Amino acid sequence: MFSKILVANRGEIALRVIRAAREMGIQTVAVHSTADSDAMHVRMADESVCIGPPSSTQSYLSIPAIIAACEITGAEAIHPGYGFLSENANFVQVIEDHGLTFIGPTAEHIRVMGDKITAKDTMKKLGVPCVPGSEGGVTSLEEAKRIGEEIGYPVIIKATAGGGGKGMKVAQTAADMEKAFQTARAEGKSNFGNDEVYIEKYLTTPRHIEIQVFGDGKGNAVHLGERDCSLQRRHQKVFEEAPGPSITAEERARIGKTCADAVANINYIGAGTIEFLYENGEFYFIEMNTRLQVEHPVTEAIFGVDLVREQIRVAEGLPMSFTQDDLQINGHAIEVRINAERLPNFAPCPGKITQYHAPGGLGVRMDSALYDGYSIPPFYDSLIGKLIVHGRDRPEALARLGRALGELIVDGVDTTVPLFHALLAEEDIQSGGYNIHWLEHWLETNLGDG
Ligand code: ADP
Repeated sequence: MFSKILVANRGEIALRVIRAAREMGIQTVAVHSTADSDAMHVRMADESVCIGPPSSTQSYLSIPAIIAACEITGAEAIHPGYGFLSENANFVQVIEDHGLTFIGPTAEHIRVMGDKITAKDTMKKLGVPCVPGSEGGVTSLEEAKRIGEEIGYPVIIKATAGGGGKGMKVAQTAADMEKAFQTARAEGKSNFGNDEVYIEKYLTTPRHIEIQVFGDGKGNAVHLGERDCSLQRRHQKVFEEAPGPSITAEERARIGKTCADAVANINYIGAGTIEFLYENGEFYFIEMNTRLQVEHPVTEAIFGVDLVREQIRVAEGLPMSFTQDDLQINGHAIEVRINAERLPNFAPCPGKITQYHAPGGLGVRMDSALYDGYSIPPFYDSLIGKLIVHGRDRPEALARLGRALGELIVDGVDTTVPLFHALLAEEDIQSGGYNIHWLEHWLETNLGDG
């Protein structure tokens, strides 16, 4: 059993990990930049270590600083949260070289899934359905155009190292190909240091459906159903729900089993998410995330499990505490991402929180590191909280979301809360009749955001 773990992250996800560890009787170490000395994760952990200046590259992304913090405090394992170093295979390697444990998958799994071409190739071999597209990387414009003709426009050109919605460009027709191809390559190069791209058929009305999987590293794996994360702005999720309003129990069982079998086959360890586009009853694999997702709480709500606790257990070599048969869906859950951003253009809005009040009551969970008087630093992601509601069914969850949003007070900065109030008034949100393009159209029509 670990006696002490280090959390290599900040904000709400650092709190999330500290909470699970505390319930397990494990001591926690927080790391922080100089900009985060007053942050809640520092206050809540048993110990803390300052690991560098505000810039993430010199603090939350500094592998030597994090390893040194482990050595100083005697932490035996590191939980990476999401973002930062959570999908960095080199980090995992260095951790192991120092005789420490990474709470997550192996460096090899991260490497394979981190490259979208090898990930797709691997999944295809494991029997997971994929979006039609190029076989591997596309190196010349001529080849890109030939593939465009073959699979038919529109197509999407994606950087193989891409993430967070960056490095993806759509070509509606052959005339758009040159610009889309060059831009995707340039974005891949500047954001991820890799200009390799590949091409996929661009689906016009899909939903984003992702399957939560969990493995013990010894060939056992389960799935925890799907999350529908179709409401996106610039390919970034803003509202997620589970179960997906369009998915039947039969479809869930079928795609869930395919995913669980695939990860069991590769001895996957820990939490993972296999993302699909879903259109006309078909699932098309797009990528796998080898970490805990921002939206994991909706899955926790409907299955009544603590995914971080499970991650820590399997990292210690313990078995998972549930089997597939134990995992039964109870009700419906929705998460909204509350960002410190100013509408209509979602400009980051850091600043001092003059008043904060979190909603509560039955079926309400607020994961946030905010407190009265806290100053949101301008250096990091603008996510300041996640509001998760759970109800007996979807209508109850929606009503509860409206009620909880009404109770939430975040004064001093602009937030995305008004967006969710407005969305709840929409018939398509109430009925669940939306796809991945719905929100962009809505924002353009209602806020002039485009
Ligand atoms: P990232 O790693 O940047 O998150 P993903 O491959 O997961 O990129 O895609 C993010 C989003 O981009 C998807 O949820 C979807 O909205 C859109 N997208 C990706 N691939 C396609 C495609 N082939 N057709 C239509 N939309 C796509």
